[in-house]
Amino acid sequence: MWIEGNYRRNLLDMHIDDWNEEFLSKVNPEEYAEALKNAGVQAAMVKAMPHTGLCNYPTKINRMHKGLKGYDFFGEVLKECHKRDIKVIAYFSQVFDNYAYDHHPDWRTVTVDGFNHKDFRNLGWFRNGRYGIVCPNNEDYRQYVKAHIEELNEMYDFEGMFLDMTFWPDVCYCPSCKKRYLEETGKEMPRIINWHDKEFRDFQLRREKWMAEFAAFTTKCIKDVHPECTVEHQMSMVASSWIHACTEWASDEVTYTGGDYYGGFLQQSFINKYYKNITPNLPFVYHTSRCDPELAFHTTTKSRDELLLHVITALVHNGAFLLVDAINPDGTIVPKVYNELMKSIYDETRPMEKYINGDLTSDVNIWFSSHSKFDPNDSGMRMQDKSFEPDYYMNAPLKMASILREDNIPFDVIGSKNLKDIKAKVLCLCHVSEILDDEMDDIEAFVKEGGILYVSGTIGHERLSSMLGMEFNGVCNMERTVESFTYLDPTYEGKDIFEGFDELAPLSVPMNQYRVRFKEGEENKAKVFATLTLPYTIPGSPKFSAIHSNPPGIHTGECAVFERNVGKGKIFYSSAPIETSKPYMSRQVVKRIMNHLLPERSYYSDAPKMVETLSWVKNGERYFALINEQEEMPILPVHDIFIKMPGEFKRATDLSTGAELDVTYADGMTSFRVEKLDVFKIIKLEK
Ligand SMILES: [Zn+2]
Repeated sequence: MWIEGNYRRNLLDMHIDDWNEEFLSKVNPEEYAEALKNAGVQAAMVKAMPHTGLCNYPTKINRMHKGLKGYDFFGEVLKECHKRDIKVIAYFSQVFDNYAYDHHPDWRTVTVDGFNHKDFRNLGWFRNGRYGIVCPNNEDYRQYVKAHIEELNEMYDFEGMFLDMTFWPDVCYCPSCKKRYLEETGKEMPRIINWHDKEFRDFQLRREKWMAEFAAFTTKCIKDVHPECTVEHQMSMVASSWIHACTEWASDEVTYTGGDYYGGFLQQSFINKYYKNITPNLPFVYHTSRCDPELAFHTTTKSRDELLLHVITALVHNGAFLLVDAINPDGTIVPKVYNELMKSIYDETRPMEKYINGDLTSDVNIWFSSHSKFDPNDSGMRMQDKSFEPDYYMNAPLKMASILREDNIPFDVIGSKNLKDIKAKVLCLCHVSEILDDEMDDIEAFVKEGGILYVSGTIGHERLSSMLGMEFNGVCNMERTVESFTYLDPTYEGKDIFEGFDELAPLSVPMNQYRVRFKEGEENKAKVFATLTLPYTIPGSPKFSAIHSNPPGIHTGECAVFERNVGKGKIFYSSAPIETSKPYMSRQVVKRIMNHLLPERSYYSDAPKMVETLSWVKNGERYFALINEQEEMPILPVHDIFIKMPGEFKRATDLSTGAELDVTYADGMTSFRVEKLDVFKIIKLEK
């Protein structure tokens, strides 16, 4: 397949309207393709039909962009790229289609209170009056998409297609969605959020399955005409809330996973690990903008260091990088971006490409459960009052990744499909609200065979509750404190893990805690590390002990943090996702929990918190990467990093310079030193 070894990709973003004659009047495919070639780009994603629904090729289905005056921009870029041995991915916008929205009002999505998307003004999440959204559950819209996909695949011979926007920007109550739900369930669509209710959770699962089924439909439209064509669906919304219905299930409908992100390097490291593990084929692809920090800043370009960091971070996770550049409205580009900036970056990363694509070593796996992206405590809220911003379900796993990176604990992020084959010693379930039966089978087998499970916050399955010896009130029905500011009071057993905290100054938990209710006779099997302490009064109420805060007052003695052995393994439970805590002292508690669960690691690094140390094995050879993931530019160099691992290695080579590093061997461990780290280093160890 063409994607093998294809790591450098480009997209010219051009959702340009055509009310002004100047727009797209100066496109120059030859100049663009030549610039890509100069930069060393291996694949170009080219807009066939953007969000405007105005085609950049002579379509017979809707219409072309007027500024092109009949000129086949798509076809010409394809020809110029192929001439230069650059692969072409045809871009097609689904769901976001202004032409379809304007010409087919009955295809439009409808919000719970009856609005179409262009009715909104000045709101976030695409609600600004510019985006026309149509519903993928509408059969006529599907036939229009099918006709477009067939037309494109019959007219041109490209290597792949990118189907953008495979998600709902909002929960849709259009006639097609209502009809489908009624036919499948015999019921009206719910208008009140209620995660406590299995029926509501089933409604959401249905939406997620519908979206995955739409992805399967459009993928099939391509494959029926052009079986060799690779397919990528937009999957960035997998890291967003339940509203968008984008889940891991969509990854079964793609050749490789991909999506665009603008959230910095911790987020990139997290999502790159996840994509690496759920993609059917490698490399996956990570898209981000040339513009700093995102496309809204059309005229500012990210620094060389920042773009280099994006490229190398994707690469060490076995991922391709796709630069999203924005065309000027008149159709011109800035060739310097390619001829100078991207060329110099790819010249530096290209020699590293042959060393990657090995098996990443990890001791801790974080399970990112893409179908549990909700907070059970939103129950009772009206659909129109829901929050679009991700909550604990996203923060908890991401913050856990941050702590593991900070403490140089080798980790990976996995999806549901990877639960069957966990190689790490510890699996983390950070505030996972619902676990499906087959997922629970895999988790249970992992623990019974000797795996260690860390669980924080909600308990998403009856069997997990049972393994912990706890009573179960049903999924998303666990009792929690009324108090939204609580404390964890260390026991004698917990004094090492909770170092710095005691009865007078217990660990602050700036959220509600779930209440541990053991089944009769089970509490003796738990080793308790901390108990629940509540403030004197209810936070937020006028009655107070101290006017600015909610100091601890009621020591309940109720178990809150504990572990117990299960089969050959064990489970560690925390009554709140304390990994989301901001204070350093609190993060240190999570670090000590991980050290407690993981007495020995596959390797050790003393790199400072913003430097990520990764290691993999390829063809029997051991590699290390040090990535300086500083969020603020310019990136400051870091000096003297020591890495140590079991086994004897005689030589460590810096693969960028060929220089040999100092290596010492003692007590069964090899250690080596990196004198200075700028943006990245990849090191090969030899026996
Ligand atoms: Zn709909």
